[in-house]
Amino acid sequence: MLGKTHRLGGIMIGSVTPIIIQKTLNTPINNITTFTITTIIGGAIGSLLPDLDHPNSIISKKIKPLSKIIREFAHHRGITHTLLGWITFGVISLIVSYLSINYLIGNINYYEKICMSIIGGAIASSTIAFIANSFNKYTHIVKKNKIKKISALGFLFGFFLVLFFDKKVLEYVPIYLLAMFLGYGIHILYDMFTVSGVPFLYPFSKKVFRFSRFKTGGIIEVIASVISIIITILALYLLFKYNIKLKM
Ligand SMILES: [Zn+2]
Repeated sequence: MLGKTHRLGGIMIGSVTPIIIQKTLNTPINNITTFTITTIIGGAIGSLLPDLDHPNSIISKKIKPLSKIIREFAHHRGITHTLLGWITFGVISLIVSYLSINYLIGNINYYEKICMSIIGGAIASSTIAFIANSFNKYTHIVKKNKIKKISALGFLFGFFLVLFFDKKVLEYVPIYLLAMFLGYGIHILYDMFTVSGVPFLYPFSKKVFRFSRFKTGGIIEVIASVISIIITILALYLLFKYNIKLKM
């Protein structure tokens, strides 16, 4: 499936994530707007991650070195599109979330502090790149080569913000990663609707999981996109309505 369709799926899951959290905790979320923007960007970026194994995917073009490393040991729709790949990402996310919470409560050594600042930088940089890219599609405000510079500045901003100033931003790391994790999952699910399918249980089983045999780039892209957009709008409507109700 195409990157732009996956991204819509990620945005969809990012809009649904705050509802799941609200329903589970049964309390209104403070700063619901910031919270939702965080999960939407997390979901959208997470939904592009599995295609790091493809040289021409949106995400591979953005983070070429990481894509190269992954392609050294994974062919397209290989390990990054499996349960094992998904769980590995989940475990890394859990460790990072654990570290950010530890940092928040001040229980962290110097090296972990640097690590957290790098993660803060990476999140700031990817967020800025994502926003700049999304707006650029329609407006071309930012020149293409400038996006790299802007995201590099974003990295420095996130790095120093976490290191010296406002570690409270780390509160958002676990939900960002949760949305990324769910976005990752929705990518694998969407790919199961295409003819190539997904070897979900590889390397334990070579069985290819597929629900239908649509061609990538065909009508399935339209169907998946429309469904994602409808659910996104519905989720955002319900989210804000429910949040207001809880606050009353
Ligand atoms: Zn894929």
